[in-house]
Amino acid sequence: MSVSGPDEQRPVNEQDTPAQPPADALSDAEIERLLAASTLPTNYSMHLLGFQTKEDAEKLAGVVGAFLRLFGTFLNLERLDAITVAYDYDTALKEVDRGTTCQELTATNDTFARGVAMTVRVLHESQVKCHIVAAAGLMNSLQEPNDPDYKLAIGILAHEAAHVHDLLMQDRAYPGVLLRRATGLFFYRGCKRKIKRKHSGISSAC
Ligand SMILES: [Zn+2]
Repeated sequence: MSVSGPDEQRPVNEQDTPAQPPADALSDAEIERLLAASTLPTNYSMHLLGFQTKEDAEKLAGVVGAFLRLFGTFLNLERLDAITVAYDYDTALKEVDRGTTCQELTATNDTFARGVAMTVRVLHESQVKCHIVAAAGLMNSLQEPNDPDYKLAIGILAHEAAHVHDLLMQDRAYPGVLLRRATGLFFYRGCKRKIKRKHSGISSAC
């Protein structure tokens, strides 16, 4: 009598067979179609700061752009104004042109955590948009799938992209409100009353 275990039921050449994509995997044509429909704007700007060579910067820019394009297939990224990837993350955060008077942004840095990415809300051409700032040290991990921080870097960039989507949803739900009270005056849409506020604006730090 012979007993057949699960291992014995596998094809003989399984060890030599390349991994097959799951049955519901998208075809190359479907992936191309999705990417072509990505919501990533064609006119967003990317700033790479502190890189040793232009080639290093351009290489990472290509990878970051590809991930953002991918995220734009399931998130709405039309309000992405810019992304800055910098070795000096803290300074890059401070130097974002927010298009309005806001409290200076500082990176999270305490006993619990150190910030490596933030999505900043900016006012550009009278529209509230997002500027992602990310630490180059982490974003570099996107270039190497075997890097121990590869998945972390993907997750953090996707998280920031989700803030871009979220901003659009909030602006649609409450048009004309976001960032509009940054100067200390709250412009009440509809009756044009100006109400003095003590605090200074809605910030997007996260
Ligand atoms: Zn966040």
